[in-house]
Amino acid sequence: MSAEKNDFNVNLDWEFTKRQDELIRLRRDFHAHPELSFQEDRTARIVSDLMEKKGFKVTRKVGQTGVVAVLEGGQPGNTVMWRADMDALPLQEDHSKFEFHSETDGVMHACGHDGHTAIALTVADILAERKNDLPGRVVFAFQPAEEIGSGAKAMLNDGLYAPNGPIGGKPDYALGLHLGAFSPTGTVTLKPGPLMAAADAFKFVVRGVGGHASMPQLSVDPIMVGSQLVVALQTLISREIDTMNPAVLSFGTFQAGTKSNIIPVEAILTGSLRTLDPKLRSYLIERMEAMGRDLGKLFRAEISFKLMEHAPAVINPDDLTSFAQKSAASVIGSEAVLDRPAIMGSEDMSEFMVDVPGCFMFVGAQRSDGPTPHHSPLFAIDEKSLEIGVKVTTRTLIDFLQK
Ligand SMILES: [Zn+2]
Ligand SMILES: [Zn+2]
Repeated sequence: MSAEKNDFNVNLDWEFTKRQDELIRLRRDFHAHPELSFQEDRTARIVSDLMEKKGFKVTRKVGQTGVVAVLEGGQPGNTVMWRADMDALPLQEDHSKFEFHSETDGVMHACGHDGHTAIALTVADILAERKNDLPGRVVFAFQPAEEIGSGAKAMLNDGLYAPNGPIGGKPDYALGLHLGAFSPTGTVTLKPGPLMAAADAFKFVVRGVGGHASMPQLSVDPIMVGSQLVVALQTLISREIDTMNPAVLSFGTFQAGTKSNIIPVEAILTGSLRTLDPKLRSYLIERMEAMGRDLGKLFRAEISFKLMEHAPAVINPDDLTSFAQKSAASVIGSEAVLDRPAIMGSEDMSEFMVDVPGCFMFVGAQRSDGPTPHHSPLFAIDEKSLEIGVKVTTRTLIDFLQK
């Protein structure tokens, strides 16, 4: 860390306390008005207007509903991007618990992205007030459509990192957080190495020969062949790979047929592959395709394999993670900075970290009144986590700006 670090001092308790009411108001407002992926129009409008008022240079509609806001500090330093996702989920909230809740039927902030957006706006306010002393350039990327794994790619395809884009090229670092109802409030998880899994959606089409259910000898039954495929593919996980290198393979749909006495022509199966290790990912994809092809031959059917959406694993580089651990520890104490095992969920934050060194953390948001799992109608965060989020984010950003 450079000696100039102390030149930019910030009293986090004071800065937070001043903004606490506004932070809670913002988060509850976003929570009451959740918007689905790529429909975050209201949220994006509020974010853009607020960031402009704070003195950021705002570019709207980066990746459909995404917003990019850049603040030029008065001192030399790095360009550091902070990602905050804005979208909600197609889920009906359980209204029994709190007085504030989703006002849109069937849509709910059930992952904490309302909190991510409110935290980023609050940190932006703290930094903007010290614009002249601020080292480097801070960039906030308010990302749409994280829940469908498309928003980060949409922003990048729209020139987020392009030389003539809103940042004027790639940032030096890309950072972000996720609130975690699975993790104790008061803690931050900063794990070096793989943190979240790569997610590959895949599709098999099994083509057989249709016919009468009573005369299977005249058909090639794609339901039977598809069933063999489901069973055979599980042996990749149970028999072909190291159990210490995790992978999950699940089928989510298996569609075939129209009537009980017809052997259909075709069966379509889709599923999801999760891996932490990029080499293991390529191996499994290659083997899935080969197994499909060969199994088709074995049973006189034709099996095609296609990869659909993909998000890479979130992998935190060792050096940046230990740097970020120190930043977090200076705010909440080193005993509250955890190094917990990776999870097999995925996050398209990883897209931003492919070409730019980055780091991603979980901010504990577990409530004391029982489990409130992500993506469930009961999801709820402990709002105390927002304070930790603001303080740790502010400190981490300042340290990376001066790294
Ligand atoms: Zn989610
Ligand atoms: Zn999420």
